[in-house]
Amino acid sequence: MGKFSGPQFHRLLRERGLKSTRQREQIVRVFMESGSHLSVEELYQRVRQKDPRIGYATVYRTLKLMAESGWASSRRFRDRLALFEHQSAGEHHDHLICLLCGKIVEFESERIEELQSRVARRQGFRIFDHKLELYGHCPACIPKEKGGGSEKRGKSEHGKTL
Ligand SMILES: [Zn+2]
Ligand SMILES: [Zn+2]
Ligand SMILES: [Zn+2]
Repeated sequence: MGKFSGPQFHRLLRERGLKSTRQREQIVRVFMESGSHLSVEELYQRVRQKDPRIGYATVYRTLKLMAESGWASSRRFRDRLALFEHQSAGEHHDHLICLLCGKIVEFESERIEELQSRVARRQGFRIFDHKLELYGHCPACIPKEKGGGSEKRGKSEHGKTL
């Protein structure tokens, strides 16, 4: 998915005076296959399952390189670790974050996007980027809230539709 391609990555490495090694390629592949919102540590664990010789520093540097070239973006949700997700050109989404289990759900709402730009326009701003993060409890965690009041069952599934 996204703009990432093998040959481009090779070129980038060459520009940086870095060798395109099997290890780096392996890391990139695992990252692209892993879905979103991985910490360096999580990616490292997954990479190690495929090749235990790959070191943490290599994983970290490769990820950083991808972030610098726009193939990955790094997000820090609250005070948690930076999490990386791959970045497809022109693709945008916002996040719902569970404060109890750390689950992250992606969503996109045209109406919210539109409202945001309207607000900005009204203030005379030209906006280049934004992050919308909604913090709360996910459906799995709501029953575990203390007090246990779960009578109010919203009909919202963790779906993408808004
Ligand atoms: Zn948005
Ligand atoms: Zn949760
Ligand atoms: Zn995301």
